[in-house]
Amino acid sequence: MKDVKARTVFVPPHRERGAVDACIAEAGLRPTAQRSVVYGVLLNHAKEHPTADEIFMQAKVEKPEISMATVYNCLDALVKHHLVKQVHLDRAATRYCPNMHEHAHFLCEECGEVSDFEGTAKPRTSGFKVPKGFQVTQTEMNMRGVCPDCAKQEATR
Ligand SMILES: [Zn+2]
Ligand SMILES: [Zn+2]
Repeated sequence: MKDVKARTVFVPPHRERGAVDACIAEAGLRPTAQRSVVYGVLLNHAKEHPTADEIFMQAKVEKPEISMATVYNCLDALVKHHLVKQVHLDRAATRYCPNMHEHAHFLCEECGEVSDFEGTAKPRTSGFKVPKGFQVTQTEMNMRGVCPDCAKQEATR
């Protein structure tokens, strides 16, 4: 696997096959070659929050014989075992995020880049009025706006 610099604080700096396999096994999944390729791609492209299509293109570089169906199966398994979560930021395809720490997603409306914002979004402490009787099991926090790079470009335009 190519050497990839760690770009976010959450992503472990080592991305060797062994480390990826260990994460998969720890989550209770059998680390097959396909799963480690798919999960490896996600870890290496965590910042992009890639779609299944993008993951497929990237996985093919490492494993030319991999099929789209296999990629979907792998993603399914990774999501079910809480290694990866699905993100729905816009009407575009589902994206995938391997950062399982609680965080919000920020989508830049100019360049389309997705950023992870650390923090907790517990409905009862965030000011949302959760009516009696409702049990929240999952909170997804999405924000949109302009990223610092695009804001700078706008200012100089
Ligand atoms: Zn994320
Ligand atoms: Zn931007």
